[in-house]
Amino acid sequence: MNAVIETFGKTVGNFVIRSPGRALTLLKAGYEASGLQMRYLPDKRLLPHQKYIAVMNNRAIRLPLKNPERSAVVNVFLPCQLLHAMNVTPQFTEGLACYLNGAGSEQVFIACAESAGVPQTYCSYHKVLLGAAFSGVMPPPRFVASTSLACDANMGTFRAIAEHYKVPYFLIDVPSVYSEEAVNYVAGQLRDFASMLEDSMGEKLKEDRLRASIRSTNRSIQMYREYFKLLTDKYMPGDLTSEMYKVFPTHILLGTPEAERYFRLLLEDVKAAAPSRGEKRILWAHTIPFWQDSLRELLNFNERRQLLACDLNFDSMEEMDETKPYESMARRLLMNIVNGAEENRAGKLLEMAETLRADGVVYFNHWGCKHTLGGARLIREKLEEKGIPVLILDGDGCDRKNVNDGQMSTRLQAFLEILEAGA
Ligand code: SF4
Repeated sequence: MNAVIETFGKTVGNFVIRSPGRALTLLKAGYEASGLQMRYLPDKRLLPHQKYIAVMNNRAIRLPLKNPERSAVVNVFLPCQLLHAMNVTPQFTEGLACYLNGAGSEQVFIACAESAGVPQTYCSYHKVLLGAAFSGVMPPPRFVASTSLACDANMGTFRAIAEHYKVPYFLIDVPSVYSEEAVNYVAGQLRDFASMLEDSMGEKLKEDRLRASIRSTNRSIQMYREYFKLLTDKYMPGDLTSEMYKVFPTHILLGTPEAERYFRLLLEDVKAAAPSRGEKRILWAHTIPFWQDSLRELLNFNERRQLLACDLNFDSMEEMDETKPYESMARRLLMNIVNGAEENRAGKLLEMAETLRADGVVYFNHWGCKHTLGGARLIREKLEEKGIPVLILDGDGCDRKNVNDGQMSTRLQAFLEILEAGA
């Protein structure tokens, strides 16, 4: 971590307990400053879509902190087209937790959550979010909403946050098996959620705005599919942070003009990219510890290696039907690769590994994520059966104190060298 961020994080940490309001003011000022830096002095190695997403996400994190009365705390899988249609900004677990990590301050929020009784073994993204709420640093949202997809942490965290702020909470229960009956069941809940949204905001949901958000979603998905087709034969320099950033437009910002612009730039960049030139092509499964310098050194802007995609960023590529918005949202949830049996995730990873000509897969076992840990062996077997090498990398995507950095970088380096030796 660089010295400025370390000092900033310590200062935030000192304020969190004594004066949460000042901690929030400092965080907002820090994000504002980093947003300006990203806009006017971006890293020259970044491609246009990567520069753009840094600015876009920075704004997406700041807005709910600035206007909490028009914000909702949600999980990453919540279909946010309904929120966009109502002009409500989502604040989501992994997003806020990663930005607090980026501000060098995740430890104080983890400590707040643990001192309130949250188990040490709980997912660190959730601990940071809970700590931000319990400490009083995150301002009260208008409501809280989550899906049961994809982990049991969702059930506890969001209810606790809603109770803490005494705001409405809505849970969308997603069955683990796809069927038309399940689509109708989830669609019914989404209709109820829309009513709750109207009650909470005291406004009517405008159907034309929801349809516009769905059309935008479809245009984004079409461009994204086109991008993957072209990426098959291309080399695009990249970095861990930009891939983790992509969780915003592929999830909570999907259906907004900003996300659509991102996918347009992504497509333009892949069209302009150089042909693949024998670099080792890596697929990543699950979240990315983008802040770990040792891993960045191995993968960022490296001409011999390309990080192709993280599977969370192609977890749901279904287009939507604007005449059946609720059924479409339900279908996307039910067909998500992390819903149900691990074979679904393995199958999609295999399909993408073949499409993108991946040489290997890094399966990131995020500490506390029972879902990922439980699927590791099966997914490795399924991929290796087809000749795709897999590295299961244990770590923590958010808690700096919970990683064995030396061991992780040694293992990743060895894996990459084995792939390179087999060239
Ligand atoms: S990392 Fe795992 S436990 Fe944490 S939020 Fe994601 S799915 Fe849930």
